[in-house]
Amino acid sequence: MGKRRKSLCPELLRKGKMKKKELEKFEALLLEKRKKLISEMGHLKKAVLETTPKDSAGDISSYSYHMADQGTDAMEREKAFLLASKDGRLLYHIDEALRRIKDKTYGKCLECGKPISRARLEAVPHARLCINCKEKEEKEKLKQGQ
Ligand SMILES: [Zn+2]
Repeated sequence: MGKRRKSLCPELLRKGKMKKKELEKFEALLLEKRKKLISEMGHLKKAVLETTPKDSAGDISSYSYHMADQGTDAMEREKAFLLASKDGRLLYHIDEALRRIKDKTYGKCLECGKPISRARLEAVPHARLCINCKEKEEKEKLKQGQ
């Protein structure tokens, strides 16, 4: 009896708390990644935004009327475009990670709340899940995809 192990040892918890210096390190890492990504996406975005209306169906007048009708449409379209692309989603996750650095919640798994390992964060600084939850998520995705 009473032999149950605690799921979180104190040392892990202590380690899981990020020091300011570490947060700054990851912030710099994320900002660097973000900069690179945006400069790569710049070309892509331009290409997509320039070709979209003219290439579709040809009814430009009704299209632009629709655009004028909804003031935020361009922004929504840009957001949708960002999230539709792999780079865009990455950018989104980087921004979310930067926000978590500001909140001081960075480095914790969003699913189970346990600290994400340093090695994982160094490889994937925008990681939002610990490796266990990530694996679970991947498995779920596979199931849904079939
Ligand atoms: Zn987790």
